[in-house]
Amino acid sequence: MSNEQLDALREQLDGVNMQLLELINERARLAQEIGQVKSTAGQKRFDPVRERNMLDMIAENNKGPFETSTLQHLFKQIFQASLELQEDDNRKALLVSRKKKAEDTVVDLKGEKVGDGQQRLIMGPCSVESYEQVYEVAKAMKEQGLTLLRGGAFKPRSSPYDFQGLGKEGLEILKQVADELDMTVISEVMNPQDVEMATKYVDVIQIGARNMQNFDLLKEVGSHNTPVLLKRGLSATIDEFIKAAEYIIANGNENIMLCERGIRTYEKATRNTLDISAVPILKQETHLPVLVDVTHSTGRRDLLEPTAKAALAIGADGVMAEVHPDPAVALSDSAQQMDIPQFQAFLESLRETGLYKL
Ligand code: PEP
Ligand code: MN
Repeated sequence: MSNEQLDALREQLDGVNMQLLELINERARLAQEIGQVKSTAGQKRFDPVRERNMLDMIAENNKGPFETSTLQHLFKQIFQASLELQEDDNRKALLVSRKKKAEDTVVDLKGEKVGDGQQRLIMGPCSVESYEQVYEVAKAMKEQGLTLLRGGAFKPRSSPYDFQGLGKEGLEILKQVADELDMTVISEVMNPQDVEMATKYVDVIQIGARNMQNFDLLKEVGSHNTPVLLKRGLSATIDEFIKAAEYIIANGNENIMLCERGIRTYEKATRNTLDISAVPILKQETHLPVLVDVTHSTGRRDLLEPTAKAALAIGADGVMAEVHPDPAVALSDSAQQMDIPQFQAFLESLRETGLYKL
């Protein structure tokens, strides 16, 4: 074959490529339009019956030289890409997404702002055990200028025989200490029916990992103005985590903080595997503040400091860690809470490295 012949054929091929390009994009535009019509009508995007009809049509009209199976494979790729395009459009529309709102959401906790560029620390005991226990931790925090106090009153325990928390009495203790020391309280609620009551005692409602997809609870906290700290589920993907936050915002509450707390993997060296890259991904994909819980992700006291540094270095808006006056006798998470001198050393170390600035 002469060079001229080859050039001519290649020129024809380029022309066909350009026609295919036009046609594929034309098809994509139509698929997008169909997606919009379906979404307005509340119909599902993927329609297997319609896909089967299209594949049959290709088989009936195929004159070769491609095998029908080859063509069906190629067309399935195109169908899949179109479906993803419709999903992209859908993601754009998520209220928590950066695409929807470019500026960072800043959650105001009684004047202390989370997500304003200043990194914060949320600390306190795993469970509220007594007034004295909470007061001792809170006082040590206050002396260091920290005001965001966590403590569990409703505890999600793996075993029903383990300490379940003090319930409402625990919330009362938290509120009393917070009022006395002028602090902000963060505490978990597990039951949608307790949300209303809890908002009278706490400044932030925490949704724990085990309840990340408790959709009734998400809807309920979404219908209040109280800020919400939403933790990532034990086996939740980032996409599922984002959609859980969407449940809250879609019900009217925009004051949401996301908290990466480790996910379950095969690794046994830590209690969970801290997915540190979730932080920049969540910051890119959403406009919400992102925190890292170093206690529940690692489950190891010796890893709290290095992982907190990693969280601050990667751009988390805050770090959560647990502190107990005497972790050895703590009613929950005894192996991973810091005692007060360890908490002071932890803070000093973060400040020394310049990572924590307050
Ligand atoms: C907690 O923060 O008290 C807690 C139980 O954490 P998680 O839901 O992340 O396990
Ligand atoms: Mn705990």
